[in-house]
Amino acid sequence: MRDDWIAVAFSIGLTLFSLACDSAEDPGAEGPNGRDVLIVTIDTWRHDAAGFSGSGKVATPALDRLAAAGRVFDFAHAHAVVTLPSHASILTGLFPYDHGIRDNAGYRLDASTPTVATILQAQGWATAAFVSAFPLDRRYGLAHGFDRYDDEYDGFAPQSFTPPERPGAETVRRALEWWDAHRGEPRMMWVHLFTPHYPYDPGPPWDADYAAAPYYGDVARSDAELTPLIERVLDGPDVDTVVVLTSDHGEALGEHGEQTHGLFAYEATLKVPLVLYAKGAVKPSRDDRSARHVDILPTVLELTGVAPPDGLPGKSLVGAWEDDPASYFEALSPWVNRGWAPLHGTISAGHKAIRLPLAELYDLRTDPGEIRNLLGEKSLDFRRFLVGVPDPTLSAADRDALDAEAIKQLGSLGYATGNASRRSVYGPELDPKNLILYDELLARALRSFRDGDSDDSIALLRRIIDEQPLMGLAYSHLAFFYSDLGRPDDAIRVLERAVRNGASNESIRRKLALALVGVGRLDAAHRAIVADTDSTDPETQSALGRVASRQGRYDDAMARFQRALQLDPSFPTASMDSGILLMERGQYDEARPLLERALDQDPYLAEAWNALGVIESSHNRTRAAIEAWRKAVDADPRMIDALYNLGLMLGRTGDREGALAALRRYAPLVQGELRREADAMLRELESGGEY
Ligand SMILES: [Zn+2]
Repeated sequence: MRDDWIAVAFSIGLTLFSLACDSAEDPGAEGPNGRDVLIVTIDTWRHDAAGFSGSGKVATPALDRLAAAGRVFDFAHAHAVVTLPSHASILTGLFPYDHGIRDNAGYRLDASTPTVATILQAQGWATAAFVSAFPLDRRYGLAHGFDRYDDEYDGFAPQSFTPPERPGAETVRRALEWWDAHRGEPRMMWVHLFTPHYPYDPGPPWDADYAAAPYYGDVARSDAELTPLIERVLDGPDVDTVVVLTSDHGEALGEHGEQTHGLFAYEATLKVPLVLYAKGAVKPSRDDRSARHVDILPTVLELTGVAPPDGLPGKSLVGAWEDDPASYFEALSPWVNRGWAPLHGTISAGHKAIRLPLAELYDLRTDPGEIRNLLGEKSLDFRRFLVGVPDPTLSAADRDALDAEAIKQLGSLGYATGNASRRSVYGPELDPKNLILYDELLARALRSFRDGDSDDSIALLRRIIDEQPLMGLAYSHLAFFYSDLGRPDDAIRVLERAVRNGASNESIRRKLALALVGVGRLDAAHRAIVADTDSTDPETQSALGRVASRQGRYDDAMARFQRALQLDPSFPTASMDSGILLMERGQYDEARPLLERALDQDPYLAEAWNALGVIESSHNRTRAAIEAWRKAVDADPRMIDALYNLGLMLGRTGDREGALAALRRYAPLVQGELRREADAMLRELESGGEY
């Protein structure tokens, strides 16, 4: 292992040492040393939200102890400002344009891309990951190389508009169980906490301690949650563990008009805390040189004596480095799901260059708040920063083909002219800085909906769509509100309008297909989703299966559900859909375990409860059937099949009041012949008769 002290000596010019160092301490020659590795990521953790940052905003005693025993990088940056792409860079050591994940959904890490887990696993390390929220679900491809990938969290609660998560203390409890059980083997463990992510709800005692700044309360709580893990390392028995502590991105908290993260790439969200601890190998110190997420993988591999794969852009953070390599970054979610101009750029030589229709250039060393855009003053510098930085709107294949030409163009004509032909569609009106108002309107629409003022939220979303017809997120939310209000035809019209306006993406097409299935328009549903046949998103495969199943193409449907389960074995909807299909075909024994598994993972799947009720009823287990249907209507009060089944069965067992209650809820939800039948049943029951 390279001695940090020697490397520092090298940097001040002791050539003799450096020669000895290079020949005797080449990590590849040394071979794997079996050292334990712990990577801790705290989601949405600002660079200044730590005691050791010196900001005085929050107390983090456990993290401070680790920082004091390790090296703190005070100028560290992520490459993306949302969870999945950023973690992909941490694990692969690649920039987003190389690992290919540009947003939280709709992307999946290719199984052939090496990660810290696949590399160490192949060298004999036991590997495990414990993640706390849905953006890191195994379906997005990060689970490769982990012997265990624990991504169990609470079921979906779409009304909250926040991803499913589990408490950090529970994540850490499970992680420690695994960590302790594997002591004695080389271990690599990644622990991810979601605690500081919006909504900020630290609970006691932090809610009182941080009443005026609950975000910092969430950070203080994270510190407490991680304490037992950090104590294992600092107080023994695991003192020889290499620890990397960082966040995936920060939180804007109102800076530059942004409330949370994902829109911009200012320091509030792009700069991250980064601590490297390796007793005996890394001297406790502060370091203000540029450190990047892509440097984490080479660092871990050097400290474990494992040779890195070829072509990594990062460098080991152990020891010295003389040059100051650029740090690429991007914020592409608004481009992907709102149609705004793509934001990307680089940090180099202490400057941040942001490529946008209204470009920005800041000197971060003298202007860390990014107040003074130097672009007018230093336009030549700006162009130089971005030469060779790939255009995020191009695929990898496009990029390879265009690379040489693009660089030539950039070099000779400058950024603006060089890209004008490809980018002419993104004018200043699509610059995120000019659209921050719409983000605020979107947030207001969600708040209104949560507060029960659906008229206000619908009016706000309609306004956004009229003024920003490419903002796919507004259509998605409006369609969700309509279906929640029991207006499926309005939901369908909104989603169809998104497709017509060119604002659709896979998620919108999938929602449209499912909404059309819901109203029985099966051919239209098929047309809506047929372009996504090869998708690697399990939700899309599951939706394709539902369409096929309703069209009577059972083999295709089953193949789709199985594909979805292959992509994500813990995806409850796919288990449920396979179970329902088997149930409908009378294969009750095969259907039951799939339904039970789905409900085990998500007890709010109304359709699974309904199908289970049908199976119980077919076996004449009346009580169990009634119980299952009750759970179905608890989970979804508008589930007409379960309400009908419940009403019918309760009536047959002589529970007249129960039957009346269920059918009175059922009748207003159906039309035509079904409504007439329901009314007739209600009249019978009300007059004391039976049906
Ligand atoms: Zn995140």
